[in-house]
Amino acid sequence: MAPRKLAAGNWKMNGNLAALAEIDVLVAAYPAPGCEILICPPALLIHPAKARADDVIAIGGQDCHDQASGAHTGDIAAAQLRDAGATYVILGHSERRAGHGETDATVAAKATAAHAAGLVAIICLGETEAQRDAGETLDVIAAQLHGSIPAGATAANTVIAYEPVWAIGTGRTPTTDQIAEVHALMRDRLEGKVADAAEVRLLYGGSVKPGNASEIFAIPHVDGALVGGASLKAADFEPIIAAL
Ligand code: PEP
Repeated sequence: MAPRKLAAGNWKMNGNLAALAEIDVLVAAYPAPGCEILICPPALLIHPAKARADDVIAIGGQDCHDQASGAHTGDIAAAQLRDAGATYVILGHSERRAGHGETDATVAAKATAAHAAGLVAIICLGETEAQRDAGETLDVIAAQLHGSIPAGATAANTVIAYEPVWAIGTGRTPTTDQIAEVHALMRDRLEGKVADAAEVRLLYGGSVKPGNASEIFAIPHVDGALVGGASLKAADFEPIIAAL
């Protein structure tokens, strides 16, 4: 069975209770969406977001700790995300890898914790501009994929997002050939690591907008998008959802 396409929005550290009205707009626009729709708001908004998402839109976190509970001031456990209504969690976003020193091993440990709590982990991979310019993209992605995906990952509990660091929030995107090359590599490298590799959803993320979504979604092995800026307003996110 072909994997169900996924339109995932990452609100990052944006939004407040009033901004949840954007979810109401999406629920009204897509009472029976043809793809899966996910919004990952700041953690404080997960519970009220879930109440408004009406089982039409999934809600996710943006990070979790690798431990189930304990003395970790300021952190959030995967089970707490689940308790608040999340069914997904984004892990290893480049902003966390760069800003919080997260390594592939950290990401894999967090993904294991997410799986144990019943969350789907969206594991982010991506090269920097310097790495692309140096011709290292495929090696970087292969290494990140190998190191960040834990034992026990399946198509049901894991989604991979290719997010070139230089394309995030910049308005720049790779060419369709460059995206196709990386997605084909990811699909290939999942074989042998995940039993149902062909079913794992592979998202592209990095300056996806209403104007480029159709072209990106036509690329082989692109099963959806992880969207930052253009997920904040339903008016921008809707045409991206419609393009899937
Ligand atoms: C992101 O940060 O995950 C992202 C893809 O951001 P943007 O869509 O704004 O480039």
